[in-house]
Amino acid sequence: MTLPAFNAYLNGRFAPLDSLTVSVMDRGFLFGDGVYEMIPVYNRHVFRLDAHLDRLTANLAAIGITDPHERHEWHKIINRLVDEEIFPDQQIYLQVTRGPAWPRNHAFPAEVSPTVLLFADELPAPAREQVENGVSAITIPDLRWQRCNIKAISLLANVLAKQAAVEAGVTEAVLIRDGQLMEGAASNIFIVKDGVLRAPPPSTQMLTGITYDVVIELAQSHGIAVELAPVSEAALRGADEVWLTSSTKEVLAITRLDDAPIGSGLPGSLYRRIFQYYQDFKTGVMRAGKDFA
Ligand code: PMP
Repeated sequence: MTLPAFNAYLNGRFAPLDSLTVSVMDRGFLFGDGVYEMIPVYNRHVFRLDAHLDRLTANLAAIGITDPHERHEWHKIINRLVDEEIFPDQQIYLQVTRGPAWPRNHAFPAEVSPTVLLFADELPAPAREQVENGVSAITIPDLRWQRCNIKAISLLANVLAKQAAVEAGVTEAVLIRDGQLMEGAASNIFIVKDGVLRAPPPSTQMLTGITYDVVIELAQSHGIAVELAPVSEAALRGADEVWLTSSTKEVLAITRLDDAPIGSGLPGSLYRRIFQYYQDFKTGVMRAGKDFA
C-alpha cells in the first residue's frame, strides 16, 4: 500500500500522511474506541465547521473522552490543514480515539490521553453519470447497535453492509430495522411521495448528517413540504423517488432498489429541483465561505 503524502496532523504535529504512525496499543486500533468526522471544504472554505465540531463534542461526551481541544484550537488545526493542501475542494477526516493504554482492558484506562488524527483529501464532485441516471441500491437488515447517532469509528456493520452493496454491483445499502427505513450504510435516505419529501426524524437509530440538514433546509426554503416521521419499508419501496445524501455524494437519486425500479426508474422531478438548489447553494454559499443562504 502506498499512501499519498497529503497533509496530515497527529497529536500536535503537522506532517505528510505517509510519515505518521500510532501505537499498536491505541484503543482505536484494538477496540474501535473513538469517534470521527468528515468535513467538506469548498474553495478552501470549511462548510459548517461549527456544526461538525458540535457533533464531535457531543460524540466525545457520549463516549466519555475529554475533548482534547478548545474550539479555537480545532479551528486553527483544521484551517492550517486546509490552507496547506493543494486541492481547493477537500474532505477533512478527523478522528479522536481514547488513546494508547497497557494492559489491554475493555474498561477505560485510569490514565490515557486521546490520539488526534486529521488528514485532508481531495473532494471530487459526484459523477455526472450518477446524477443524470441515478444509482442502484440494495436493502439489508440493520445489524448495528442502539447508538447509531454516535459517529463511532467502530463501523463493522456499516462496512459489511457496504461490501454487500459492492458485491451486488450497486452504490449503497439501505438499512432496514423492524420494517422501518433507517439510513444508508454511509448516507441518509429520503423518499418523495405525492410531492412530499419524507425522512426518518433524528434518533439514536441513525446518524443525522449535515447534508440531511441542508437538504431539509433547501426543500423548506423552496416551498417543498417536508415530513420527518418514520418511513416504513413498504413506503420506501412504493415511493415516487428515493434519494441518498452525504457530504461526499451530495444528493443522488436511487432509481433501482433490490433490482426493482423506483417510480419511473429515472431521477424524478423533485430530485432535479433539489439537485439544482444544492448546486446553487454550493456556488453561492459554500464556495463563498458562508454556512447559510
Ligand atoms: N449516515 C451514515 C451512517 C454516514 O456514514 C454518513 C456519512 N458519513 C451520513 C449518514 C451522512 O452524513 P453527512 O451528511 O454529514 O456526510
